[in-house]
Amino acid sequence: MTVRTRIAPSPTGDPHVGTAYVALFNYCFAKTHGGQFILRIEDTDQARSTRESEGAILAALRWVGLEWDEGPDVGGPHGPYRQSERSALYREHADILLGKGHAFRCFCTAERLTEVRKAQMAAKQTPRYDGHCLSLSADESARRAAAGETHVVRMKVPDGGTCVVHDRLRDPIHIDYSQVDMQVLLKSDGLPTYHLANVVDDHHMGITHVMRGEEWISSAPKHLLLYGYFGWQAPELCHLPLLRNPDKSKLSKRKNPTSILYYQRMGFLPEALLNYLGRMAWSMPDESEKFGLDQMMAHFDVDRISLGGPVFDVDKLTWLNGRYIREDLDDAQFIERIVRWQLNREALAPLVPLVRPRISTWSDLVDVAGFFLQGMPPITADDLAHKKLEPQEVQRVLQWTQWQLEALPAWDAAAIEATLRATAGVLELKLRDSLAPLFVAISGKKSSTPLFDTIGLLGRDLSLARLRHGLEVLGGVSKKQQGRWQKAYRAALAAQAEAGG
Ligand code: GLU
Repeated sequence: MTVRTRIAPSPTGDPHVGTAYVALFNYCFAKTHGGQFILRIEDTDQARSTRESEGAILAALRWVGLEWDEGPDVGGPHGPYRQSERSALYREHADILLGKGHAFRCFCTAERLTEVRKAQMAAKQTPRYDGHCLSLSADESARRAAAGETHVVRMKVPDGGTCVVHDRLRDPIHIDYSQVDMQVLLKSDGLPTYHLANVVDDHHMGITHVMRGEEWISSAPKHLLLYGYFGWQAPELCHLPLLRNPDKSKLSKRKNPTSILYYQRMGFLPEALLNYLGRMAWSMPDESEKFGLDQMMAHFDVDRISLGGPVFDVDKLTWLNGRYIREDLDDAQFIERIVRWQLNREALAPLVPLVRPRISTWSDLVDVAGFFLQGMPPITADDLAHKKLEPQEVQRVLQWTQWQLEALPAWDAAAIEATLRATAGVLELKLRDSLAPLFVAISGKKSSTPLFDTIGLLGRDLSLARLRHGLEVLGGVSKKQQGRWQKAYRAALAAQAEAGG
């Protein structure tokens, strides 16, 4: 058997360090078994998937040094490798399940489903589909579908009993079928959900081992049922422990930068990042902290993955990165890497229109644009002080802006401007006053290059990190205060939505 593993990112945002972590382990496992590593794009969520995100994910994985044998850009014998190009295959497979009686059409309206959900929650039950449409005869179901009635296709789930999930890294996991929802497989627009597409593709792409984040364990019963319904052998499952913030919560951009673009921007070396990711959940037999991909592969043993939540600690990564810079680069490489980092045409080009009107000599550049190259600007609470805003009000501006920008789907100057204007409105502040602390937190100065463009160019994670830094400089926000603001913030969003804007 040729080992075949895959990474199956959904292109719905910035490339996540967690994706590179899971990709690394899949890569090592496949390669140490003489197998293949495949990249598949899971873009079934059409509303949230973008080609831009796909491109960024591929570029980021390549940047850390991972290559795939098959994928949307390199092709391969099992393509297409983008789920949006495989819809016919999923429909065919939904039909197979309908024909075998393992799936059924569901004509329930969204209102009915909401009612059922509410009642179940009130009765303290796990919300799940109540099986209403299971009782339709095959004839009636086919007739209504042929008449064009809106419906989805759901999978059947056994009435009773327990699913035993075998995972390479764990004791057998028992999950009662009563906890498993009759999952929608095909949506009313005829497109698949993750579960159907994932199983169909893993089978057709010959994936032998599924290594993915442990948040997917609860989906395993659905997937195993589907493999059984189709009469296919399921791949071996291996759920990797999730990366965590130093406080042990799930790694999230709320608390830590999670985008690979941030680490690029901050000047981390790809080999250091990959090395650090290799130390999440795994260690070299001699516990050495610094090792390259070849060394990792020479010693890789999947059964030595440890399940204790691996902490992604930026300070430790920074320390490791420093070692690479000090120990591994000769002078010429040192210069070459800095040029590749930011001192090149591509990185400088977008700065030109912002900087040109503000300088008279090249040396002015350092003062005007130096902060683009910086990590966190060296600011103090005094820098953030504002003559019209109380310190707490300044914090509130930073905090709300952080939340608003975090939730922004597209990252461009126009969207950022609209968001910052809306934030000022909701906080009932003059735009100029609400932007003042942002200038300081983002650029380190009271005035700088135009703020919206600047935030756009700095990128999401670096901008958010600077806002967080500003909050910390002001002493941080207590949990209680955060809670209060969250509540007000959500209420404001709801009011905005209601007002139609
Ligand atoms: N598209 C899923 C994700 O984004 C893939 C999960 C899996 O590997 O099955 O994480």
